[in-house]
Amino acid sequence: MNFLDFLNESVTPYHTVGCLKRFFEESGNGRMRIWERGGSIIVTAAPQKAHPGSRFRILLAHTDFPALKITPNPDLRTAGIQTLHPEIYGSPIYASWFDRDLGYAGIVLYELDGKIEKTLIRSKELLRIPQLAIHLNRNVNQDGLKVNPQTDLNALWSSREGAKFVEALQAYLPKGARLLDFDIQLFDAQPAQRGGLEGEWIFSGRLDNLSSCHAVATGMAKASAERYDFQVACFLNNEEVGSLTREGAAGSFLRSVLEQLLVEHGLFQPGDPKMSLDRFFSESLAISLDMAHAEHPNFPAKSEPNHAPILGKGVTLKINSQKRYASDVFSSAQFKMICKKAGVPFQTFVMRNDMPCGSTVGPMVSAALGIPTVDVGEPMLSMHSIREMTAVQDHENLVKLVSAFLT
Ligand SMILES: [Zn+2]
Repeated sequence: MNFLDFLNESVTPYHTVGCLKRFFEESGNGRMRIWERGGSIIVTAAPQKAHPGSRFRILLAHTDFPALKITPNPDLRTAGIQTLHPEIYGSPIYASWFDRDLGYAGIVLYELDGKIEKTLIRSKELLRIPQLAIHLNRNVNQDGLKVNPQTDLNALWSSREGAKFVEALQAYLPKGARLLDFDIQLFDAQPAQRGGLEGEWIFSGRLDNLSSCHAVATGMAKASAERYDFQVACFLNNEEVGSLTREGAAGSFLRSVLEQLLVEHGLFQPGDPKMSLDRFFSESLAISLDMAHAEHPNFPAKSEPNHAPILGKGVTLKINSQKRYASDVFSSAQFKMICKKAGVPFQTFVMRNDMPCGSTVGPMVSAALGIPTVDVGEPMLSMHSIREMTAVQDHENLVKLVSAFLT
């Protein structure tokens, strides 16, 4: 699956899932099974020979990204323009959303012949959130752009008086369909591109965490069948808002898939006091893949000495003493063995003591299931901007790491 095509197509978690499903159906050679829940999927491959020593090799990545979601009744009219009012999803850098070519996309549910149907849509038209001219905001360069997310982020959509968003959605539905609900967000419509003197970087929206999704999918498709262990690739929604949803990493989805795999292979019987899931989980390993902060050439003081990953110089191992990352000495040691086997260079990230550390789905999955987990990721810049950047070399190494881990 071409990386840039994947980035360009995956403009919402639903589109990401659609893309991944198609990819696995085409390349999975019947070995893989797809479990779907909302904007999440889990892809599993059973071993050639399941037996009581079988364990799980799990990869975790999230399908969502910070965005501006269209509210249920978004239409506003000001200054002779129809605008769409958004609600913030996750933590975008607001300033990065100004003066970009935007589209809207998502899932629409409708009623047709008494049944609930769904479809993915992507707008044909472009929208824009214009900045205020410098003449009307004289100190913007000195004070920085201050954004009120309630009033400043309405997207300019139409000059046609009385244009209604839900009526526009009707055009994407079959004749006779009655719109029931939608989950639609704005996205950066500029295609992903290669950048740098030698094309060594990728500039794109949504790299956090589509880059990891792509690496997991590509690595999983390349990996051959495992003799004894189950291969599990999780692409989970709602990480950017805490994961506590039916399809998120803090929900029941992953646990129920793992349990069902064991039951189907006769390795576990729920309710049998002689059997415990804990044995399977505590001897398994999960790699949680999410993007990492590279050292910024213009802001080197924002990085911890000796722990600032450089773009293009290797996959990043994330360590945090406050346990915002799941890595511990045991899982990190296994990660280093896999890197050696795969011939993949790695760098280590630690956050500065005077700055709060971000987190991933790693700690919650590891804590809930008792699976040793290591947090790793590609170094990147501009995380949560509408347009981010990463290095091609690190991405290719991440794919290698995934394949080596699974086989
Ligand atoms: Zn992320």
